[in-house]
Amino acid sequence: MKIRNILLTLLIASSIIGLSSCLRWAARAESKLPAETALDKTYNYDGKVIIVGAGAAGMAAAKVLEKNNVDYIILEATDRYGGRLKKDTSLADFPIDIGAEWLHSAPITLNKLKGKKGQEIDEKLIPYHLTSTATWDGKEYKISSSRQNDFMYNFMPESKFKETTWYDFVDEHIAKTVKHKIQFNSPVSSINYSNNKVIVKTKNGKSFEADRVLLTVSVGVLKSNMISFTPAMKQERITAINSLTFNPGFKAVLKFSEKFYPDAINCIVESGEKVYYDIAFKKDAQTNILGFLCTGNGTQRYYDLKSEKEIITSLLQELDQIFDGKATQTYTGDFILENWGQYEYTLGTWTQAFQEKNSDLKLISQALDDKVYFAGEIFDPYKQMGVPGAILSGYYMIDQLLLAE
Ligand SMILES: Cc1cc2nc3c(=O)[nH]c(=O)nc-3n(C[C@H](O)[C@H](O)[C@H](O)COP(=O)(O)OP(=O)(O)OC[C@H]3O[C@@H](n4cnc5c(N)ncnc54)[C@H](O)[C@@H]3O)c2cc1C
Repeated sequence: MKIRNILLTLLIASSIIGLSSCLRWAARAESKLPAETALDKTYNYDGKVIIVGAGAAGMAAAKVLEKNNVDYIILEATDRYGGRLKKDTSLADFPIDIGAEWLHSAPITLNKLKGKKGQEIDEKLIPYHLTSTATWDGKEYKISSSRQNDFMYNFMPESKFKETTWYDFVDEHIAKTVKHKIQFNSPVSSINYSNNKVIVKTKNGKSFEADRVLLTVSVGVLKSNMISFTPAMKQERITAINSLTFNPGFKAVLKFSEKFYPDAINCIVESGEKVYYDIAFKKDAQTNILGFLCTGNGTQRYYDLKSEKEIITSLLQELDQIFDGKATQTYTGDFILENWGQYEYTLGTWTQAFQEKNSDLKLISQALDDKVYFAGEIFDPYKQMGVPGAILSGYYMIDQLLLAE
């Protein structure tokens, strides 16, 4: 979903020069998947490891440590695990992903993430092949052709979980064996790696010691300087981190008594993304749930409003403009707003490695003195992005950490 705006541009280009066959996103992503991951290996490491962050990357790394009986703990700033994965079961008659939602790459990726061999997928997936979409530039509502919808799907054959969520997938296949090692409400504020042992301190005054640390906080948290390093990171690395794009943004979910909207409405924006979409698309659902994703420059106008309710009112007004008052007439008053861009321990939405300079990615992926390692979606060497990228980075970086001399 996140590269939809780029796709719109490509769509126009493709009609001129026929790009679709050579650029197929999912095929490229699948071809970059590793043949094996740390789940397929065994390790013999007798040091202690601290993982900072219980998101997909941190817990994937922990799964490897757990499997190999390595001594470790996970320090998590909040009172929950999952990071940018979260689900709601209160609004609709199906579970809603209010963080990551789509599988952007081929279904076989799921097997790689959970360490299953073979081609058969256990999960029930919905191919995200939309048939009714439109664009909206604030004035004109244009229905897209079936050719355009087919192009989108052929270029990037995404899918969604039919009965479950991304959160459930990670909960079942990754968190299950490691969650007992999480110390919640432990926001890390400093990492001192100047001596033999690494000292990690939290905001609430606790101190922990380990041989090696794996830091999996978001790029937003890294940029915020919430965590200080001793010795300080080199300026070159700080500059590379600061140059990464990690847009602000949020997801809203609204409930209606009628479905008056198409599968998706892509709003034309200068940067980032703004899209209304039917969250119940091809789910076995009786409830009408419309999602709204906004990232990039367009987010600020919503952040300038005083409350979540005002943001929802503004969305209803825009929908009323397109659908002749239908939104307000059928809105049930139920909504969720998940403001990832302003959550203290996320401070943004997602990164897109393919947009960043390879030299920057290489630089920021290096460990500090072979003691402090980094993982998380942007550190994925296989450039899968999103949740698969986060999990694969966890496997890759913990392998590096365990094997370093
Ligand atoms: C609205 C939204 C929609 C998305 N849609 C998709 C999608 O459709 N498909 C997809 O694949 N991806 C999607 N993504 C991206 C995906 O969610 C992320 O790539 C992935 O979850 C990142 O995992 P991570 O472990 O790298 O980071 P995180 O999930 O951010 O985990 C980092 C963890 O570190 C913790 N932490 C932060 N600071 C500290 C600290 N100082 N001390 C201790 N702990 C700390 C955090 O609380 C968090 O638990 C979406 C993201 C958002 C926000």
